[in-house]
Amino acid sequence: FLEIKDVEKYYESGTTHTQVLNKVSVSIENGERCVILGPSGSGKSTLLNVIGGLDQVDSGTITIENKEISKLKSKELSLYRRDYVGFIFQFYNLIPNLTVRENIQVLEFLANNPLNIEELLDTLGLAEHKNKFPSQLSGGQQQRCAIARALVKNPKLLLCDEPTGALDYSTSIEMLILMEQINEKFGTTMLIVTHNTAIKDMVHKVIKIKDGRVVEDYRNDTLIPAKNLEW
Ligand code: ATP
Ligand code: MG
Repeated sequence: FLEIKDVEKYYESGTTHTQVLNKVSVSIENGERCVILGPSGSGKSTLLNVIGGLDQVDSGTITIENKEISKLKSKELSLYRRDYVGFIFQFYNLIPNLTVRENIQVLEFLANNPLNIEELLDTLGLAEHKNKFPSQLSGGQQQRCAIARALVKNPKLLLCDEPTGALDYSTSIEMLILMEQINEKFGTTMLIVTHNTAIKDMVHKVIKIKDGRVVEDYRNDTLIPAKNLEW
């Protein structure tokens, strides 16, 4: 489904030239939940951004369903982002002066084949909060709204950069249970960047990166349901 091959990425600042991704090769099957672990600065967000078409690779290829996204021009790249990819970030990035429903609607209008908003609000436990503004919600509720917004486009790929990073322990578990449900219900392939190593037991595939290189890459034979995770 997703094939990453020998991807390299450099950042220039002034005269320094830093390599952030070094020959990264990974393959992910359709419908897999996958976690990306690694120390701060190891290149996790950079990897997610090049997969999501927010940033470009310097060499190597990224292929999704036989479409080589690392070669797309800006117009095609924006269609790829629109039709394939949902993003979730640590700090939700909701629009403050729009309600929950309106935040989700913004992405619904862009979608080719959107999911039903009311059903989504229900699934994510947001029905009673749909007319509230982000500032009137808890962190967990804001993240659920961000998840609904990412999902309304019915993306094939959901890219999550530290989705539980700003949440407390029990809200994080609640969020992981929800992501597990979404993966099972919609079959959305998920890549989750996190510092919570316990998440590795609830996902099909684990990738560890260090200094821009993949240092570990394996699939789990047995999964622990998110509700039974301990960390
Ligand atoms: P964290 O866990 O702290 O979020 P990360 O693994 O996500 O870290 P990245 O954000 O991918 O790390 O950054 C990898 C390296 O690339 C870091 O050394 C960072 O300073 C550098 N870097 C990231 N973005 C840029 C940029 N836009 N310009 C220059 N350097 C950058
Ligand atoms: Mg990061």
